[in-house]
Amino acid sequence: MSVVTRFAPSPTGYLHVGGARTALYSWLYAQRMGGEFVLRIEDTDLERSTPEAIDAIMQGMEWLGLKWDHGPYYQTKRFDRYKELVQQLVEEDKAYKCYCSHERVEKLREQQMEKGEKPRYDGKCRDAEEQEGPFVIRFKNPDDGVVVIDDLIRGKIEIANTELDDLIIQRTDGSPTYNFCVVVDDWDMKMTHVIRGEDHINNTPRQINILKALNAPIPVYAHVSMILGDDGKKLSKRHGAVSVMQYRDDGYLPEALLNYLVRLGWSHGDQEIFTLEEMKSLFSLEGVSKSASAFNTEKLNWINQHYIKESDPEHVAEHLAWHFADQSINTENGPALSKVVSIQADRVKTLKEMAEISRYFYEDYSEFDEKAAKKHLRPVAKQPLETVKAKFAALADWNAEAIHTAINTTAEELEVGMGKVGMPLRVAVTGAGNSPSLDVTIELIKKEDVLTRIDKALAFIAEREQQA
Ligand code: GLU
Repeated sequence: MSVVTRFAPSPTGYLHVGGARTALYSWLYAQRMGGEFVLRIEDTDLERSTPEAIDAIMQGMEWLGLKWDHGPYYQTKRFDRYKELVQQLVEEDKAYKCYCSHERVEKLREQQMEKGEKPRYDGKCRDAEEQEGPFVIRFKNPDDGVVVIDDLIRGKIEIANTELDDLIIQRTDGSPTYNFCVVVDDWDMKMTHVIRGEDHINNTPRQINILKALNAPIPVYAHVSMILGDDGKKLSKRHGAVSVMQYRDDGYLPEALLNYLVRLGWSHGDQEIFTLEEMKSLFSLEGVSKSASAFNTEKLNWINQHYIKESDPEHVAEHLAWHFADQSINTENGPALSKVVSIQADRVKTLKEMAEISRYFYEDYSEFDEKAAKKHLRPVAKQPLETVKAKFAALADWNAEAIHTAINTTAEELEVGMGKVGMPLRVAVTGAGNSPSLDVTIELIKKEDVLTRIDKALAFIAEREQQA
């Protein structure tokens, strides 16, 4: 039997990192088993589902590279199928019309609560005659016995049928309810493994009973634990970014987020870094932890930094391009992005930062960093800057080695330390006091731009002299 898993989001917002982790586990499990992965949009809640949310979820999945083999299927397009099966259950006496008014059900509920009982429908209409007037359809839950779930993550779970009541599967307006749609879809879409958040664990026994009533095979279930914030509460916006696309915007590589998410709740020895290929070949549901996991941004940063440093610069550059565009930096007339990646990789934690600190490769800075200018663009810097500028101007080949020699010989000729040339030059070229090694930095900027920027620094020094 070939494995089929699914991700079944309700499109009511962005793709949450918790949802993304569930999707990742389902996807990886299918990959590992040579199976298939289905994307199903659970959009039956017409008031809360939006097309924007559907787009946002798919965008998140695509950015993470979680490709689905089938779908997206939309539950709203499958209403005929749900109705057909509701009808079948009614005909087989496994479901029934319930004419109880909302008031009656509410009153029953209140009475049960007062007595300290768990509220449940009392089955009054199980044997009711056909009547006029509005009705819902309820599933006839078995009265006795237990439902056993052999959860691949949580182990054996048993629920007595006396704990469950006759669930509404079709509302008064004829629309099917959530649990029923999930059951029919899991069956029709040939799900072998249902991997989902533990918040659905209460639905599972009900769904299993309905599957049994339909004579459908029961999939294997695996309920993944929650992700918590650093205060031990369920991860939410209060803790920082929770939307997958926000992580893109904040400068994370998709593979870093995937690596972080796979480890958040799953382990394989003490290995931290997993290539996608490793994840696909090593992932197992047995290795998924039962306990909740706490989101740790520092660790995510560490993993992101690892991927920025260790990945092929060409690959990182493809993602960096998005950030340059996002920061309105036009990179058309500057160095290849991969070169910038090569020299900036170990200076940043995120690609957003990398774009921020690399602006000077593509455009002149608008003003000097105040502190750096104050310290390094002083009258004593005038001669070193003029000398190095003349040497730069005379260079036939604009490369790091020649640039390096020009800086060195300037220091030698003027009998000053390298820093006396290097620091003013750095501020002149980059606008600030931090950059990678000067020769490789300057090599990436056009010669005429470097000369213009040195002039700008000299003008700044002159102006300062005048003011003094
Ligand atoms: N639509 C549900 C959700 O977004 C998931 C249902 C399921 O996986 O069975 O929470």
